[in-house]
Amino acid sequence: MIIDIHVHTRFSPCGSIRVRQLERVIRESGIDGICITDHDTIAASSLLAESRHAAGVVIIVGLEYTTSQGDFLVFGPVESIPERLDAPSLARWAKKKGGVAIPAHPFRRSRPADVGILEHFHVIEAYNGRNRAFENDLCVRWLRERGENKKWVGGSDAHTLDEVGRVVTVFRNDIHTAEELVRELLEGTYTIWQRHGERKRGPVEVPILTKKAANE
Ligand SMILES: [Zn+2]
Ligand SMILES: [Zn+2]
Repeated sequence: MIIDIHVHTRFSPCGSIRVRQLERVIRESGIDGICITDHDTIAASSLLAESRHAAGVVIIVGLEYTTSQGDFLVFGPVESIPERLDAPSLARWAKKKGGVAIPAHPFRRSRPADVGILEHFHVIEAYNGRNRAFENDLCVRWLRERGENKKWVGGSDAHTLDEVGRVVTVFRNDIHTAEELVRELLEGTYTIWQRHGERKRGPVEVPILTKKAANE
């Protein structure tokens, strides 16, 4: 199951994708689904048709939660997430409520996470489609050296249609709900793929990271 777990819509101040465009772009990208991760809002959920599962694409609403210690992708019961948690409190909230919080692009120069707080999190966004290569490399290196037992996940961080599916997570098991996503992220087997070359649309086909990233 191929899912781009990091996609912004127009409900993010910086995003241009309309919710009603998502189903088509998922199909055109050759992926099975996406997670909407708008900055600090789940407003997009009000526009999602209930029929989206029947339509054969998976769209799960999480969010990208801003803290002074970095940004975090959050999945699970996000409708009840308190505001202004710091990073360790966010990790505790997720654990207690059956969700998952994931440091997003923790080594991006412009929005880095405090490296010290990565210890609080089990799943790390190792590969981000908007990062520069050296920023992803820094994260992979940190995971190899310090992140034993952590799980590696990847997403495009799409803010425009062309970016959807550029980096995806390929899960061994099927995922249809937020609960299943949380379970698979925490316990499942998955790896990270990247769309080949410069092509803007089309299927993802290249596993970009080695065995260690397979979370086995
Ligand atoms: Zn943004
Ligand atoms: Zn983002």
